Amino acid sequence: DNPLNEVDPEVRSLIDNEKQRQFRSLELIASENFTYRAVMEAVGSCLTNKYSEGLPGKRYYGGNEYIDELEILCQERALAAFHLDGEKWGVNVQPLSGSPANFEVYTAILKPHDRLMGLDLPHGGHLSHGFMTPKRRVSGTSVYFESMPYRLNESTGLVDYDMLEKTANIFRPKLIIAGASAYPRDFDYPRMRKIADAVGAFLMMDMAHISGLVAASVVADPFEYCDIVTTTTHKSLRGPRGGMIFFKKDPVLGVDLESAINNAVFPGLQGGPHNHTIGGLAVCLKYAQTPEFKAYQKQVVSNCRSLASKLISQGYELVSDGSDNHLVLVNLRPFNVNGAQVEKILDMASITLNKNSVPGDKSAIVPGGIRVGTPAMTTRGFTEKDFMLVADFIHEGVKITQEAKKLFSTPKLQDFLKFITSPDFPLRDQVLD
Ligand code: PLP
Repeated sequence: DNPLNEVDPEVRSLIDNEKQRQFRSLELIASENFTYRAVMEAVGSCLTNKYSEGLPGKRYYGGNEYIDELEILCQERALAAFHLDGEKWGVNVQPLSGSPANFEVYTAILKPHDRLMGLDLPHGGHLSHGFMTPKRRVSGTSVYFESMPYRLNESTGLVDYDMLEKTANIFRPKLIIAGASAYPRDFDYPRMRKIADAVGAFLMMDMAHISGLVAASVVADPFEYCDIVTTTTHKSLRGPRGGMIFFKKDPVLGVDLESAINNAVFPGLQGGPHNHTIGGLAVCLKYAQTPEFKAYQKQVVSNCRSLASKLISQGYELVSDGSDNHLVLVNLRPFNVNGAQVEKILDMASITLNKNSVPGDKSAIVPGGIRVGTPAMTTRGFTEKDFMLVADFIHEGVKITQEAKKLFSTPKLQDFLKFITSPDFPLRDQVLD
């Protein structure tokens, strides 16, 4: 077998280009990170060759003695990394990623068209928590289940728990989902537990974004209050791309979560597990139990606070006025620019972050803010002072965006744009129909 550069120089060069892009840019996307060399080694190993449908000791294929050991090791490390008692909690490490993990939970504990409530996407929730628009059921979750999102209190930027409680009492969901893709604060798990109990709903936390912070105990612990906890493995946790589902071992609301969830993963929605990912995940979960990992997660949070306070001192409005975790949400509307414009300008300067809607946005297509996260650059050794500089670069980007927008309002360009749409312009109708 020949190396990649001989077999397929085209793919080799695309990988090299991507590596250089990652190496040369300021990576501020809150959901991204740089995984460990040892994880990459496991992910790029012969484990990818093996079929092992089923669970350890109960496979539909032979030759799984080492794969069984590996998956059991991964499960044990997952429980240990999140400080869980194996008598009370179990875990499935086979979900291919975060969205499948969530859908697997829904199909495990709900019947088609049962009701669920998750944080609305424009307010920070994830698509897989049931996103829909008045016109369209966008996410598969909202196609196969009835979704009624809860939202933030727009003046505080915090989850509106009072409204969630009121709505839950009317809507009577069978599942309430905590967790978000763009929420800078901890969830109030005790309050959500109370709301779920009052209506007889399961409480699930999707800790995808913050699972590294949870493992290091630098944010509130969802396991104390939730029945089920899902996560991706490639964000703050710093592992390979994948997913996990943790479940209580004792029945909840009469449901044996262990067998329901395991069956939903396989044969319900998946076939053979990605053993190379499970190998990489086991490695990442070994790291997640070290003092260095805890120090790293503390630094992620501390860097985020430094970024937040510098942005505030530059006059930016942050959703919820700050952050408890690894990300900030910056409201750019007072600066008269939108998130898409700033994202584009910063991208040109190798500063990678993403546009994000902020409470009060009229349209999700032109979101009024940006989401900035600290995990990836903290992995590369950034400290508080580096993130102050990052805040300066963002500020420069916003000012340049404001300048660029001035071009649009110059009378000469405005006149010209008017001209090309007027009947005097000979080719006016070329683009119509
Ligand atoms: N859940 C949350 C809270 C997320 O932020 C994401 C991804 O950004 C997911 C689930 C989905 O994960 P994946 O992209 O691995 O399907």
